[in-house]
Amino acid sequence: MYSISVSSELTTTGSFCKPPISLHRFSFPFLRYPFANIPKRSPATAIHARKRDPRSQPVLKPSIVEDVSMGDEEDDEEEQLLFDDSKDGIDASIEEDDYVKDEYVEAEKTELYVGDGAGGGGIESSPSTILSPHSLHGAERITEAINKPSSTMSTAGQVIRCKAAVAWEAGKPLVIEEVEVAPPQRNEVRVKILYTSLCHTDVYFWEAKGQNPLFPRILGHEAGGIVESVGEGVTDLQPGDHVLPIFTGECKECPHCKSEESNMCDLLRINTDRGSMINDGKSRFSIDGQPIHHFLGTSTFSEYTVVHVGQVAKINPAAPLDKVCVLSCGISTGFGATVNVAKPKKGHSVAIFGLGAVGLAAAEGARFSGASRIIGVDLNASRFEEAKKFGVTEFVNPKDHDKPVQQVIAEMTNGGVDRSVECTGSIQAMISAFECVHDGWGVAVLVGVPSRDDSFKTSPVNFLNERTLKGTFFGNYKPRTDIPKVVEQYMNKGLELEKLEMFITHSVPFSEINKAFEYMLSGQGLRCIIRMEH
Ligand code: NAD
Ligand code: ZN
Repeated sequence: MYSISVSSELTTTGSFCKPPISLHRFSFPFLRYPFANIPKRSPATAIHARKRDPRSQPVLKPSIVEDVSMGDEEDDEEEQLLFDDSKDGIDASIEEDDYVKDEYVEAEKTELYVGDGAGGGGIESSPSTILSPHSLHGAERITEAINKPSSTMSTAGQVIRCKAAVAWEAGKPLVIEEVEVAPPQRNEVRVKILYTSLCHTDVYFWEAKGQNPLFPRILGHEAGGIVESVGEGVTDLQPGDHVLPIFTGECKECPHCKSEESNMCDLLRINTDRGSMINDGKSRFSIDGQPIHHFLGTSTFSEYTVVHVGQVAKINPAAPLDKVCVLSCGISTGFGATVNVAKPKKGHSVAIFGLGAVGLAAAEGARFSGASRIIGVDLNASRFEEAKKFGVTEFVNPKDHDKPVQQVIAEMTNGGVDRSVECTGSIQAMISAFECVHDGWGVAVLVGVPSRDDSFKTSPVNFLNERTLKGTFFGNYKPRTDIPKVVEQYMNKGLELEKLEMFITHSVPFSEINKAFEYMLSGQGLRCIIRMEH
């Protein structure tokens, strides 16, 4: 029996960075950044930090700190050098013949590229490779009328002292700390976060069970806020703009950004292992001079954060940030995975694996596309009632069956569903989602973030029988170009803000951010909005 082995060995060192398919082990050059290996605080220091900032303290208004520098002055040449180094480092570590570009997996059918490298002629790839997006309809750009304040906020150019929820150690409650947030450098903006929410991806990197541990870190990537100040070279954003920070970026210059098919920006695509800004490899966050790692370039669990301009979507200021903040990750990801990548046709059957916020947004995308049957698959039966509101018509709990869930679905649908979208992060569910699609035309789309060491195994015959396996980050949306338009659609009732509200099951003040983790881990809620309440 032949089998295809798709492993995520690359993610042990390089996260989701290019090149996504590895046929050889090699190490990634990001660790050369001076900030990459911050020593952990000693337990004593950590205790001190907790004591220093009890949650009962009055809200700290942002204050200006003089003469606090986060490092060397920004330097264009240095920036260029770092990028060049990084690319050279990658290329140099891979033999030319074995370098499989992700473009090869972006073809419409049988996406996996058969390499001749280490794997003994088999196929070896990371599930994160399959998350590379494959299609995007030509996007119309939106022109918005945005009201801007006439003056710049007084904190521009200064270090801001504010509250942030710091993850000091894997799996330990976040601690609200007073942090210093340096001014934005070249091509960066500093954003005042008003609302943020918790996505399961934050939880994975906080638990650090199947992911690389990087602490201390400020997590968070689903949020809405207002631009406080902009760095040099930023021309399309200004203080007062309403924005959504996005975990994957759009430089607008690279071949991916210029392609209608890809959102895998060369410069700013998701990188889960980077804990610093790409400009200089340093953090903009510190506590008493100790740098704190960034997360996904967004770090929204902070009253103020610094984000690369390419990871900021400027939206209609009339959009309610406490609701549209969930469009900055989960809801756009799920909805886009269905409408932009799986592309079900009217009357199709669609299976959705995982009925959290991402999966239910994928179900909503199926309903929106006119799917006639939407089969929800989850291990948590309490999800099923909620899922009906999102158009899910049938439910399968793998725990209720002795046979593999893909077989159950094939029997329910006379051979398999037309489309499936996996939104669990479970490798088993990923395999089932692929094997439950109909031969001849079935398309499966992976969305869940796999564990570092996961390996995707299936028979190549499943591909020969003309099933397609795809994957996507952020539902194939280009953050700057498409997300303002998505927000507008919700505003115009095309997709309805009320629908968005249905994803928001909880809301807590920033001081109770750890409750959001409890809700997600216990499977109680979909999205929990964390109110910064400046
Ligand atoms: P969630 O925890 O709210 O929902 C996940 C659901 O999957 C839960 O209801 C859980 O019970 C279910 N589940 C887990 N294992 C399962 C299995 N083996 N079979 C069936 N159901 C199973 O999480 P979420 O915030 O909705 O995120 C879902 C996934 O999407 C996560 O892996 C997250 O990291 C990922 N994600 C990916 C992207 C992307 O761009 N690709 C963006 C956001 C989130
Ligand atoms: Zn997310």
